[in-house]
Amino acid sequence: MTSPVLFLFTDGRIRQADPASPHLLVTDWGASRGDGVFESVSVIEGRMPPLDDRLDRLVASAAALDLPLPDRALWAEAIARAIEAHDHVPRLAITLALTRGVEGHGEAPSAWLLAKPARDFATIRRSGISVVTLDRGYRSDAAEAAPWLLLGAKHLSYATNAAALREAARRGADDVIFTSTDGVALEGPTSSLIVRRGSRIVSPSLDSGILAGTTQAAVFAFFEANGFDTASVSVAAESLASADGLWLVSSVRQAVAVHTLDGIPVPTDRDLTERLNDWLAEQK
Ligand code: PLP
Repeated sequence: MTSPVLFLFTDGRIRQADPASPHLLVTDWGASRGDGVFESVSVIEGRMPPLDDRLDRLVASAAALDLPLPDRALWAEAIARAIEAHDHVPRLAITLALTRGVEGHGEAPSAWLLAKPARDFATIRRSGISVVTLDRGYRSDAAEAAPWLLLGAKHLSYATNAAALREAARRGADDVIFTSTDGVALEGPTSSLIVRRGSRIVSPSLDSGILAGTTQAAVFAFFEANGFDTASVSVAAESLASADGLWLVSSVRQAVAVHTLDGIPVPTDRDLTERLNDWLAEQK
């Protein structure tokens, strides 16, 4: 089957529903305010990916928004059923979503899982992307100073991330690296940043208010197995231009090399990127 599969979670039970029919009320806080959290799970060749890191992050995001904590076993069961329903789909993208529920209905969250064949990113995995840096408008210590900004939680309010991507397109670029007002490189709107300097690989540290990327952790494991040193550090935005390599990494798109940053060419290593992506695909 290749059509999308939808499961709704109601009263602790999983119910399959028609993804082409309406299910969400307009008074749902998720629909009207983006008040909810989500996760993406990438499935390759029908293999169940490691779920612990995804479900840990879903729980952490829900906790950050004071939402009822998701039942991990129930979500894992729904993921298994979604995979089963998509026999012979080479790459499946599964979205898990949990909102604050319907206005006036107490503490009952709305929750669902949507699984559908993933977009094909094979071409940009090979070609790489051009990126612009955009100011996110916060200092790099904003997560601690203003926890209500929910930096580091995977919440549904991605309108600003989508706006940044449209700004990149207006500037003729494919993607974005956000920077803080105090000059620290952060992450992409839907990806983590990896920087190469010789045999050292670094990624921005989590205390700069970025999402803890599951792919970033897997990317570090690949580089460590290949003789590189890895570290999570504060990355100066102005240092990116002289990097020996930059990648934006995420679950479904995997690792995409940045070939141009703010109009300036960045070195790329096609062979290394291909090996990294093969390795990431094997982890799923
Ligand atoms: N940072 C942000 C803001 C994201 O939205 C995402 C993925 O959607 C990532 C990083 C990468 O996370 P992961 O590697 O777990 O997919």
